[in-house]
Amino acid sequence: MTRRVALVTGGSRGIGAAVAVRLASEGADVVITYARSAERAAAVVTQIEAAGTRGLALEAEAADAGALVAAVERTVAEFGRIDVLVSNAGIAPYGPLEEVTLAEVDATLAIHARASFVLAQAAARHMREGGRIICIGSSLAERVPYPGWTLYAMSKSALTGLTKGLARDLGPRGITANLVHPGSTDTEMNPADGEEAEEERRFSALGRYCDPADIAATVAHLAGEGGRNITGTAVVVDAGTTA
Ligand code: NAP
Repeated sequence: MTRRVALVTGGSRGIGAAVAVRLASEGADVVITYARSAERAAAVVTQIEAAGTRGLALEAEAADAGALVAAVERTVAEFGRIDVLVSNAGIAPYGPLEEVTLAEVDATLAIHARASFVLAQAAARHMREGGRIICIGSSLAERVPYPGWTLYAMSKSALTGLTKGLARDLGPRGITANLVHPGSTDTEMNPADGEEAEEERRFSALGRYCDPADIAATVAHLAGEGGRNITGTAVVVDAGTTA
């Protein structure tokens, strides 16, 4: 990853922070975005720099297409290029179907699906041969084992079409596009000691949660040389929840 530049959205904590630090440990300069956690984003930049590479944190609301394009443009302006895009920022709307509002539908689709499209389109304008676009989906896009997740699952399923289309649009330029579907992963979104955690563990073949580092390892593989012939597909990292 030496001399490569990565942009990771939602890099202030959880899976995005683990991905950012992992890519830095492999030699990449890494720009992260956040919505509200400026201090925590700064702490992740310190970890990136401790790996000996350059880091930068930018505020960029994922529902704001202009802010996302600006983050891509700032990455290129500061670092001269963009090689890896990891579209990770996300939320977890959950609840009875009857109570989901149209505002929640629009916000969730904007943060997950529209943001990933806008980021990919903006990054593709600058990416060179060897570029990598990686979206973070969810195992709930593959299988929905419990009620209450219809909106979330729908918003993450949209990333399948996005990834396949990007693979075809950008393949001729030597750019890959892939999707990583985490299962239950121990973050603030879904703590391994949370109320639903035991049930989620029971649904997994291995009987355990993933760590953010597990997701980061798969992203790093796809982003590196090992991912050169993997495109238009999804890798599920879910301890066997969808088995
Ligand atoms: P997390 O710990 O809650 O972190 C979410 C990250 O996204 C933070 O950096 C947050 O920034 C950022 N973010 C949230 N809303 C945003 C918005 N509107 N605009 C810009 N940034 C925003 O979540 P996580 O568990 O790491 O999840 C990361 C991704 O993995 C998400 O797409 C999620 O759907 C997916 N995922 C997670 C799990 C799981 O079990 N944890 C399972 C499957 C998929 P701030 O810190 O500034 O708020």
